[in-house]
Amino acid sequence: MLTGIHFLLTYMCNLKCDHCFVYSGPDAKGTFTLGQIRMALDEATKIGTIKWIYFEGGEPFLFYPVMLEGIKIARSMGFKVGVVTNAYYATSEEDAELWLAPLCKLGISDISISDDSFHDEEEKDNHAKRALAAAKRLGIPVDSICIEKPTVEADIDKEQNKGAPVISGGAMFRGRAVEKLVEGLPQRRWEEFTECPYEDIKDPKRVHIDPYGHVHVCQGLSIGNIWEFPLSKIVKDYDANSHPICGPLIRGGPAFLAKEYNVKHDDEYIDACHLCYLVRLALLDKFPKYLAPRQVYGLE
Ligand code: SF4
Repeated sequence: MLTGIHFLLTYMCNLKCDHCFVYSGPDAKGTFTLGQIRMALDEATKIGTIKWIYFEGGEPFLFYPVMLEGIKIARSMGFKVGVVTNAYYATSEEDAELWLAPLCKLGISDISISDDSFHDEEEKDNHAKRALAAAKRLGIPVDSICIEKPTVEADIDKEQNKGAPVISGGAMFRGRAVEKLVEGLPQRRWEEFTECPYEDIKDPKRVHIDPYGHVHVCQGLSIGNIWEFPLSKIVKDYDANSHPICGPLIRGGPAFLAKEYNVKHDDEYIDACHLCYLVRLALLDKFPKYLAPRQVYGLE
C-alpha cells in the first residue's frame, strides 16, 4: 500500500556528491513549478492511502519559496510532511533557525539532514550540525543521514559469512556512485544477484515523482508519467508483473533482468544495485518510457 509521495522538487543541487543516485549538481535541469506541485498533491489525495509527502532533490531549499508553499498546501490537505536537505544555508545556528522556523510554523513532521564528509568535510562544526541544533531548538523532529566513502571490512559478525569482505559506508551503487566509487571494491558473481534487496517493487510503500512527471519506484525506474496520466490512475493501474523492467526484477532480480534481454555483462559486480543499474543503462534506448529520465543515468 502506497503511503508516501516524495517530490524530487528539483534535480539541481549546490553540491555534486560522488554518491548521488540521481546525478544532481549545480547544472542539473528540472524543477517543479508550484502549479505542478498543486496538481500532483490533488492527485495524491485521490489515491486515498497517502500519509506522507516529502520534499527532496537535488537540494529543495534552493527553491525555498516554492518548497514552503508546497509544504503549506500539503499540510492544508492533511498530509504529514518531511524534507531532506544538506543544510547548505546553515552558516550559523541563528541563521539556520531563520530558514527552518517557517517550516516549524507549518507543522512539519521530519527534517532529514545529510551529515557526512560527502556534504561537508568539517566534522564538528558543520552546516548539518548547525541545522540539527537549530531544528532541535525549534522542536522539529530531526534526524541525520550519514553516508561515508565505501570501505572494505572483513565480516566477523556473521557466522555464515565469516571472513567475507563487506562494504561499509552505506553508499548505494547507482547513479554517480557507479562512476565514482566502485574502484577497488570487492565483487561477486553476477548470478548471485537474484533479487532486489532494497525496494518493494511489487508493492511500493513510497514513490518519488520528478519534475518531468516520472513516477520512480527506484531512481530512474519509472512506472508512469503524471503529465500524461493522472498520478492516482498510474498508482491504481500499476501491475508490477507486466512492467518490462519491474517484472523481470521481481521474477529473478537484476541477474534475471540481464538474462531476459540478453544484456552483455561482466562476470562480477559489487552488489545487486551495481548490476541492476548497469543493465538498465544498457536498456535505456529500448525502454525510454520506463528508464527515465536519462540524466539520472548521467546522460543528456
Ligand atoms: S537499483 Fe535495482 S536492485 Fe537496487 S534497489 Fe533499485 S531496483 Fe532494486
